[in-house]
Amino acid sequence: MRYAEVSVNAPAAQRRTFSYAIPSGLSVEVGQAVWVPFGNKLLQGIVLELTDYPAVEETRDIEGIIDPPLQLSPHQVTLARWISEYYLSPLFDAVALMLPPGFERKVVTFLSCPSFYPQYDVLSLTPEPGRVLEFVRGQGKVSLKTLEKEFGKRRAQAIISQLVGRHLVVRTYALEPVRVRPKKVAYLRLNVAASEAQREVVRLRAKGAVKQAALLEFLSEQPQSLSWAEARQRIGSNKAVADALASKGLVARDEVEVKREPISYRDITPSYPLSLIPAQRAALESIKAGLLRAAEGGARPDVFLLHGVTGSGKTEIYLQALAETVRLGKRGIVLVPEIALTPQTIERFAARFPGRVGVLHSKLSLGEQFDEWQRIRNGEFDVVIGPRSAIFAPQPDLGLIVVDEEYEWTYKQPDKSPRYHARKVALRLGELTGAVVVLGSATPDVETYYRARRGEYHLLELPERVTPDVGSPLPQVTVVDLREELKSGNRSLFSRSLSEAMDKALASGGQVILFINRRGGASFIQCRNCGFVFRCPRCEIALTYHYDREKLVCHQCHYRMSVPQVCPRCLSPRIKFLGIGTQKLEREVGYAFPQARRLRWDSDATRGRYSHEEILDKFRAHEADILIGTQMIAKGLDLPLITLVGVVSADTSLNLPDFRAGERTFQLLSQVAGRAGRGTMGGQVIIQTYSPEHYAIQAAAKHDYTLFYEQEIAYRRQLRNPPFAQLASLVYGHTNGIICQREAERMERVISTERDARGIADLSLIGPAPAFIHRLRGRFRWQIIIRGSGLDSFLSSIPIPQGWTVDIDPVGLV
Ligand code: ADP
Ligand code: ZN
Ligand code: ZN
Repeated sequence: MRYAEVSVNAPAAQRRTFSYAIPSGLSVEVGQAVWVPFGNKLLQGIVLELTDYPAVEETRDIEGIIDPPLQLSPHQVTLARWISEYYLSPLFDAVALMLPPGFERKVVTFLSCPSFYPQYDVLSLTPEPGRVLEFVRGQGKVSLKTLEKEFGKRRAQAIISQLVGRHLVVRTYALEPVRVRPKKVAYLRLNVAASEAQREVVRLRAKGAVKQAALLEFLSEQPQSLSWAEARQRIGSNKAVADALASKGLVARDEVEVKREPISYRDITPSYPLSLIPAQRAALESIKAGLLRAAEGGARPDVFLLHGVTGSGKTEIYLQALAETVRLGKRGIVLVPEIALTPQTIERFAARFPGRVGVLHSKLSLGEQFDEWQRIRNGEFDVVIGPRSAIFAPQPDLGLIVVDEEYEWTYKQPDKSPRYHARKVALRLGELTGAVVVLGSATPDVETYYRARRGEYHLLELPERVTPDVGSPLPQVTVVDLREELKSGNRSLFSRSLSEAMDKALASGGQVILFINRRGGASFIQCRNCGFVFRCPRCEIALTYHYDREKLVCHQCHYRMSVPQVCPRCLSPRIKFLGIGTQKLEREVGYAFPQARRLRWDSDATRGRYSHEEILDKFRAHEADILIGTQMIAKGLDLPLITLVGVVSADTSLNLPDFRAGERTFQLLSQVAGRAGRGTMGGQVIIQTYSPEHYAIQAAAKHDYTLFYEQEIAYRRQLRNPPFAQLASLVYGHTNGIICQREAERMERVISTERDARGIADLSLIGPAPAFIHRLRGRFRWQIIIRGSGLDSFLSSIPIPQGWTVDIDPVGLV
């Protein structure tokens, strides 16, 4: 008898596997998706190990193989186990990361007859079970649902149980098929001769049906049928107009099925490797050598940190390193931050590897994701590109993993278990598969840079931008001290330097970006009489005023309320709107620069599938002069006309109570500053702040990563923050504040007792204390921060009740 250790899709399974016996005749392998009985249910499971002995005495049998069959690769199995252990997450949550989209679907039960069955048993059946058996035999294989329709739900189930018990019928299970609806597009064409259409146009016009006339005329001028979307866009027609023409028999509408592909190669011109500048060539040569070493096998594959400002040619190096990977018979995965996964980014890869680039991301429909996943698994792509979850793409023969903008916080899964970091997973996957990892960044994570300096990673530097014409250096950055502005009586949002620079930029036909780290209008609303601040009743954070909805909004939980007429505490009508967000900035710009065309880009403005793109396209087409936005603006914008970037306030991120506040501010400012001067017109950056002497601001102004790093790493060492220690954040949430506090205090005692019992000296606890966001959606939150090393294994021995979330290596503490 053989046994299998199975990760079961049940919340109760937590971090462990369960032993099942493999019935004779069933062939099961590691990584296989199977059905297993669990309690009184039948659940999905993945076989993680095969053994000769079960871990418990009593085992049940594996019920069968899931159809369609699915098998994870051995390194995916190892990776899932590691994720569950390191991030202390339920095992199946980790396994689920590797499964095809939509795997957790409904189960369909099928019934069929075995080829041999005892004749005498059939004869002894009463009439009704006999009819059911006849029915099953007649159909060959039939779903339980069909039987239930035919014989009634209760009856069918009872009879089937009886027949299965007598081995006259067998049950099998399958996942409900993924319904991939074919995508159809409507086309319009003329249904009459062009001459008749022309006469009809005249007649319609005379009757005053101008819209119908316009559409008909337009169609009669087209050489072939036209997609409805295009007709609508080009002449602004609507559905009623087309319907009217169709009902008169003048036009016909066809539904045409289109192939569903995330990348349309039709409009992409293939690109060829550029001839590299010396710094790029040196970097590429090192990576190539690493790829070659990895291909020969043996030692641990290399990790590279490619450090170069935006525009220094990193992407070109990724492309050429991927080409080398393909030449060596391998494939690659490229991770980009979610926000950077724009059609332009995808196109750049697709142009270099025509027809050979797969894309995985959540904006694709389930059907698209499912198709793409299968194609990746079949080895149809040289390169898979996507956000953090693409690290789990079933890309075979992995030879290279690129993590672009490796410092990005979006690589960490925030609100859901496992709280993994895609960079860390990429490094682990590299070790497991022998793939080389290239981390790229303009402002590397301090921890990454530290490891590179210590020689754990190869440090490759690209000190300058690759600019086609010489003389387009990094932009000049000016830091404006807002305290001085106040002293001289300037209370507006724009310092004198900033407004002068804006006037100048606009007058010379340039474009301006204004950056503010908060969306909405006023960032808090206060009664001038008694000082009362309007707060979210569920989260207690200050509510923000949004002009477009004329509502106060909680940025934490989206709670909304109308703007009150009077203060609820003192009934005074003197309510004041304070602080500033993108919407308020947009208004102020309108007052101060009434001539300029404004455009706002923040998460309120972008909620659809392409609306990021639409906003960007508008700005690119110079349909606006000033773009106002949050940190979204900072990413990947590459526009030659931007001659001025104004950071309206650098202080929001600087003042967060978090050990990464300095790093975060430096990264943001560097990125924002990198947006100016991409073209031949040069560029300027103005940073407004109340703390001009802060090292993060100083270093960003000088475009000096090293200056920032030296200061930052010194602080980290002094305060024993990462990379000098590991952190874990434990947060407990409860609707009752007192219960919440007590549980947090109890946990603190459990942890410190365990630490003392084991004599661990380098483990310290901060808290328990109310979390920075003390209330979230009506729940109180208390936090314990643990600082030490090997926290994953230390915590794995401590029972952690429901209601706690554990975050190993949190990206921030607030
Ligand atoms: P990064 O990824 O560091 O931002 P890119 O690879 O996007 O840099 O390069 C910036 C710009 O310079 C792109 O338009 C790219 O096509 C161009 N470029 C990169 N390398 C070269 C080169 N060796 N010769 C000419 N142009 C280059
Ligand atoms: Zn009041
Ligand atoms: Zn709230």
